[in-house]
Formats: sequence, C-alpha cells, structure tokens
Amino acid sequence: ETIGANFLRISRQFANREALVEVETQRRWTYRELNAAVDELASGLLARGVAKGDRVGIWAVNCAEWILVQYATARIGAILVNVNPSYRQHELAYAIQQSGMRMLIAQTSYKASAFRELVEAVQPECPELTEVIYIADPSWQELITAGRSVPTGELEKRMTQLSADDPINIQYTSGTTGYPKGATLSHHNILNNGYFVTETILLSEQDRICVPVPFYHCFGMVMCNLGATSHGAAIVIPAPSFDPAATLQAVQDEKCTALYGVPTMFIAEQNLPNFNSYDLSSLRTGIMAGSPCPVEVMKRCMSEMHMDQVAIAYGMTETSPVSMQTRPDDNVERRTATVGRVHPHLEVKIVDPLTGLTVPRGTPGEFCTRGYSVMLGYWTDPAKTAEAIDEARWMHTGDLAEMREDGYVNIVGRIKDMVIRGGENLYPREIEEFLYTHPSVADVQVVGVPDQKYGEELCAWIKLKPGAETLDQQAVAAFCEGKLSRHKIPRYVLVVDDFPMTVTGKVRKMEMRVSSVELLG
Ligand code: ATP
Ligand code: MG
Repeated sequence: ETIGANFLRISRQFANREALVEVETQRRWTYRELNAAVDELASGLLARGVAKGDRVGIWAVNCAEWILVQYATARIGAILVNVNPSYRQHELAYAIQQSGMRMLIAQTSYKASAFRELVEAVQPECPELTEVIYIADPSWQELITAGRSVPTGELEKRMTQLSADDPINIQYTSGTTGYPKGATLSHHNILNNGYFVTETILLSEQDRICVPVPFYHCFGMVMCNLGATSHGAAIVIPAPSFDPAATLQAVQDEKCTALYGVPTMFIAEQNLPNFNSYDLSSLRTGIMAGSPCPVEVMKRCMSEMHMDQVAIAYGMTETSPVSMQTRPDDNVERRTATVGRVHPHLEVKIVDPLTGLTVPRGTPGEFCTRGYSVMLGYWTDPAKTAEAIDEARWMHTGDLAEMREDGYVNIVGRIKDMVIRGGENLYPREIEEFLYTHPSVADVQVVGVPDQKYGEELCAWIKLKPGAETLDQQAVAAFCEGKLSRHKIPRYVLVVDDFPMTVTGKVRKMEMRVSSVELLG
C-alpha cells in the first residue's frame, strides 16, 4: 500500500475521530477534515505542476501544516525533503542543492529564526528551486485556490500511478557524527515501519499520542505521524518546539495516552520543579528512543508518569527507523535495560567490525540489519551508500551492540564514541549508567579526551539536579571507588548547565570531545 492509499482508507474508516490537535492554537481536525485538507493541498501542488518524483522541501518547526505537506506530497508521489529547522544559510543551500529541490514550503519565522530571509538569501545560488510557499502567508492560500482548478478525479488517477517501492522521502540524518546524509526512503519503508512501531505498543484509534519530538526527524514523521494515522489514533502537538512544561500540560489537558521522546526530553520533564502537579493519569504507554535510555529514567516513566507499558525503540534514519523494540508483555528488566527484540520481517546480526563474521552471543560487535526497512540509499551518493549497505543488503549501522542469550539486545554505544584508553576499549554508556545512580546527577555524558600517556582519558560532563551540591573529580572518583574498575573512573569532571545538542535532542558527543579540551584548559 502507498502512504496515500493507506491514509485515505483510514480516513474513511475513522472519519469522525479526532486526527490532529495543535494545542497552541487549539486548531483541531477529524480524519475526514484532515483528509479533505490534504486533498486541497495535493490539488494545489498538482496545479503548480509538481509531479511524481519531484522534490518538495518542508522547512518548519512542528505545526499542522507540516503534516498536511507530508500527506499531500505522498498522495501525488512527490518526494518530501525534510529540512532541519535549526539549519542556517549554508546548510539550507546544501539541502536544496543536494536534493535538487524544486519547491520549498517554509515557515516565515520562528522565534529568533528568520526563515524567509534565509530562503531569500540562498535563492540566487539555487536556480532549480523555482517556487517557495510560506505557511500562514498569502502564498499558501493562493496555492490552495489554484488547486480548485484541478479536474475531479485527477488526484485518484495520480494515486494509481504510484508504487509502494517508489522513493517518497529524503531525510537527513541527525548529523550527530558529522555531515547529515540524505537517506532516501520508500512508501513501503516508512509506512510499514510506522505501522509496526505502533502495532508493537498496541496502539488503536482510542489512543492519543503527545509528540514533542520534531517532525523533520524520523521519530516524529514516521514513528508518530505514520504510526498514528496507520491506526486511526490522534496526534497532539504540544508546542512548535520542545518545551517540557507545555508537553506535560498537553498530556493533562488532551488526555493523551502515549508520550514520545528522546531520553533528554523525559529527563527535562521529570526534573521540572512542579513535575508532580501535572495529572498524567491518562498515560498508558509511550516510546523512548534515539539515544541510550537510562534505566533510572525509564523507571520514573513507569512509576511516576503512569507509563507502565513504555517501550524503548532502537533505530536509525537509514532503517526507516526502527529495528528493535521492547514489548508491553516483556518483563521489567527487559523493558528497561535492553532495546528489545527484533521487529517483524527484519533480520539482525552482530558482527566483528574487522572480519565481518557474526560474533557469539554476549560479545559486542557492530549491529547490522536487513529487510524491508533498509533505505533505498543515500540520495545521489552511491559511494556512501555502498559503505553503509553491503552486497547482501545488510545495513551496517556503526553502532556497537551485544545480543543476549534470550535474543534481547543491548546497545553498547557508537563505534565512533568508543574511548580507547591505554589500549583498552571503554564504552561511555556503561559509565554514564553508573553515574546516573548518584543522587545529585540529573544528566551525564562521558566522552574521551586526548591524553599523552594513555591516548585518551575519560571526561564526565554532569548536569546537577536543582539544589544539589556540586561535584568535583574527587567526589565522583570516591563514588566510583570499588564499584567501577579503576580505568573506568573519569579522570576529569565538568559540571555544566547544558550539553551541546542537535534539534532532535541528541547530545553532540563529537563536539563535546573538542570542547572538553578547551574547557579543561
Ligand atoms: P548521523 O548519522 O548524522 O551522525 P545520527 O546517527 O544521530 O546522526 P539518527 O539516524 O537520528 O542520526 O540516529 C540514529 C542513531 O541513534 C543510531 O545509530 C544510534 O546510535 C542512536 N540510537 C537510536 N536509538 C537508540 C537507543 N534506543 N539506544 C541507544 N542508541 C540509540
Ligand atoms: Mg547515524
């Protein structure tokens, strides 16, 4: 099934159920209304000559129009290009040129970001970009009006010309480890993955998902949007960009049953001074994913946020994204300490990165996956694609994992984040998990810094809980003494207010390695 056909079918089946709520403006759509709005916009795109395979960009923070653009482009087979809202001039020009974008739908501005000015600044270097439409601007209304001239039946005709294996989306990876890469995904890739992610958490048309994660990222557009619409559930947008208080307020007011987030978002919510004053009793489930999920934070989701069935998922943009997920009927140990077991219709293996041979269970190696979820490739970059996907179609993720005897998987860390101290491989994740158990620690990240003697030494960046006493290296070392091997005790400690983050809420460890050196002098 294509995304357009799936959305049409669900919109008819659940016509009168709520599909979308934008909390800030109190705008609401039922499935019937959302489908009608998608049709209108899709007709507008057709009227402007947008054809199957054309690249149409969306550059905006979370808003209802983002979703309209997502489904309208899918309906006519245009390839949606997700542009990260934090991009500035140079990165924007890169995404437009790299994808060969012909139309861009952008916000005029958001907070201090003047999107329109940046678009106008790059237009001279982007001759292929022939049309720019702005949200909440007369140009949007003109597009809708133009669509009225499209003959009835034309949309249906276009839909029959699409195949589920066509490319439908270019998603740039988070850029956590370097330059963002344009993962090209088909209807089949992302619609099925969205469906299985929410099927696994037993989502139905009775559910309402609160989505503080950005739509431009696969967590938002696939696991939430496609995950919700493929089951007739409602999408609740608490705020245009992440705001912990607005998120919990929306859960309470909109009686959300599911809450999504990367770990740093749940940490921020749980550390709100008035955390206990929100009524979160409508929550049942949710998904934590995107970076290592600390056991302590998972436990608080269950005990203090009513998310008894909260799931962990693991994946990457290139694999649509999810390949591993915990199930509601898994025991608590499996649900808090692992990323679960493999999704339906996918294969996984863990290999020695040097030899490519599968390692025994319990031994760390590179996580590889194969199946319907593996992207078509990196957009116009066959060399990068060949580095990631081998001849047998296995996607090599660059993540280190170990498979337990019971088939559940632990993510040990990224190959690139591994610290080699005196010839010994250290995995920051293990040390972070231990430091989380310190009563003063709100959040912690461990990175490697260059060292004359050992090659690398460990540096822990710590955010303190409100009102907690400060920590220094001696205090941290004393806490670790006897519980962690000597060589795993951080040599340096930096107490900070914030970590450098991507908009998806991921910590930029590469940047931290560099700035550790500066901060430590
Ligand atoms: P880039 O590829 O541009 O450097 P990125 O890898 O962060 O950025 P994404 O595709 O958004 O881009 O993220 C996928 C990565 O996130 C995975 O490869 C993995 O390292 C990490 N990740 C995702 N889910 C989990 C999880 N549950 N536990 C640990 N790590 C996770
Ligand atoms: Mg990656």
